[in-house]
Amino acid sequence: MDKRFGFLVLAWALTCGLSAQTPLERQLEKKGLVDVCQLDSTIQVRLMYARPDNFVGKVLYRELNRAYLLPETARALVKAQQALKRLHPDYSLCVYDATRPMSVQQQMWNTVAGTSRKNYVSNPANGGGLHNYGLAVDVSIDS
Ligand SMILES: [Zn+2]
Repeated sequence: MDKRFGFLVLAWALTCGLSAQTPLERQLEKKGLVDVCQLDSTIQVRLMYARPDNFVGKVLYRELNRAYLLPETARALVKAQQALKRLHPDYSLCVYDATRPMSVQQQMWNTVAGTSRKNYVSNPANGGGLHNYGLAVDVSIDS
């Protein structure tokens, strides 16, 4: 295998995941959400809540390794990726959070309730926030 091709396959595997879909991920798809990498495999995904170095200090996404969004939100993200690639072919969008299960929203809320940080987290008792419905995505630009 060509080394460059091997690197690309590895990069795809790390970002878009070759791992089997989890029950939660299957459930999100049944609700009509789409895996961003299925639309554009050049978009990188490093979900912050699938690792412990987030503001809660522990892994919250045990069953979520892919970035799911509503189709319209995902298509807008793909357009942004394409625009970025036209201007800077070596750069790529990197997704740090997308659809967030309400159970995780509750864990986040429990962490900040009664603190000054509560203004940064949507209260699940009030319906949560845009992340809980596949309408919000946290991104950065990677090279
Ligand atoms: Zn966000």
